[in-house]
Amino acid sequence: MSIVIYNTLTKNLELFEPLSKYIVKAYFCGPTVYDYTHLGHVRAYVAFDFIKRYLVLRGYDVFHVQNITDIDDKIIKKSQEEGIPWNHVAERYTKDYLEVLNTLNIKVNLHPTVTSHIKEIIEFVQLLIDKGYAYVTPSGSVYFDLSTVEDYGKLSSRRTAEEWRQEEEFLAEKKNPYDFALWKASKPGEPWWESPWGRGRPGWHTECAVMSSKYLGKQFDIHGGGQDLIFPHHENEIAMAEAAYGIKPWVKYWIHVGYLTIKGEKMSKSLGNVIYAKEAINKWGAETLRLWVFSAHYRKQIEFNEDIVNQFKELYRRLIMATEILKKILKSSTATFNLSEQELNLLRTLELIEVQFHDAMSDDFNTPKALEAINKLLTTIFRDIEPRENYALAFRAYSILYNFNKVLGVLDKYFEERTPVDIEFVEKLIDLIIRVRSELRKRRDYELSDKIREELLKLGIKVLDYKDGSKWVLEK
Ligand SMILES: [Zn+2]
Repeated sequence: MSIVIYNTLTKNLELFEPLSKYIVKAYFCGPTVYDYTHLGHVRAYVAFDFIKRYLVLRGYDVFHVQNITDIDDKIIKKSQEEGIPWNHVAERYTKDYLEVLNTLNIKVNLHPTVTSHIKEIIEFVQLLIDKGYAYVTPSGSVYFDLSTVEDYGKLSSRRTAEEWRQEEEFLAEKKNPYDFALWKASKPGEPWWESPWGRGRPGWHTECAVMSSKYLGKQFDIHGGGQDLIFPHHENEIAMAEAAYGIKPWVKYWIHVGYLTIKGEKMSKSLGNVIYAKEAINKWGAETLRLWVFSAHYRKQIEFNEDIVNQFKELYRRLIMATEILKKILKSSTATFNLSEQELNLLRTLELIEVQFHDAMSDDFNTPKALEAINKLLTTIFRDIEPRENYALAFRAYSILYNFNKVLGVLDKYFEERTPVDIEFVEKLIDLIIRVRSELRKRRDYELSDKIREELLKLGIKVLDYKDGSKWVLEK
């Protein structure tokens, strides 16, 4: 079953074919760490996590990079307001962000920060100047000259210069009003780094174009973010990356997650209607929040409503109950795959549920549809499998639920994952038991030492007694 994905760049549903067959290289825009993570961020990160997890379930190795913007106008503003150093602001909210991701069971392979990539950013800006795409102003700022690219606006469908107004102050030093900053000269009291153009700091868009390609290559598979990043952030990233690296398209698939709204308005710090992530996690639990995010298609808006979120608490409870029921049947019933006609039909129902889930997820990660399959599975478990206590049905349902959870990521602790045995540790432990037993033999406590030998033999460990001590071997 092939996967179809909506590409913001082409505005089409496309067959998902990564650049290399098994590896998916993905970059998702992370936070500017100037405030606590809120539910709007949670929606975006969790929605992308489902996409990533589904690709992994389908056998891809996904390498996921998510940046942390640890220097920016907003961070500087906050540090001035609070009278604390800018890097303390960044550290405080980076900690919060990483803790939230961890609680939400989101694993990111790499979290590059801007301040640890200043050298690469300067090299990149210099390359754009050398290639004639950027210019230095007398104040020591560097701007991207938008008149040098022909296809600017292709991601956001903004084709005329009137639509290119950047969300940054208009400065007389720009050649064109819509040129954007690659490097900003520092103002008094602001943090700075030395550069060939004087003291300054990177522009926001520059960092993502640099850090994504540093780790994922000059061309990679997926670049994602919230829908509000399409313009100007991602549009600018494309302009500079394609100019610098000379490869089109720089990114094969652009994925954008819809807004979280509250009473119909986008949840954002500037509108003052935020619910902080940790507050929400304390109230509803990370699992409930994940399930709630799952109920909306990632490209659609999701409206926050307490009553609706509460419904997913119930779904979470049902998922746990189903897992426990299946585990109990697998432990207590006889392993047999000898099925009656009716049981065979139920097995077919399970197959159809699994297919329905994959059909939905392969169709541009249609999670609300996939949720229907999950609910069907739960109904089947409670109505048909639990009363029958049939091993084969439980076995199959367990494996389907296990795979669904690879995407949902809410039942990990209920599935018994066998941790790999640390052989060295076990060997040391057996050596210790043998030494204790030898000591008992020296003290002529044969009763207890024989008992230990017998018990070890039951575990497949054979003790051999020699004149100068005892050894052990694994009984074949
Ligand atoms: Zn970005």
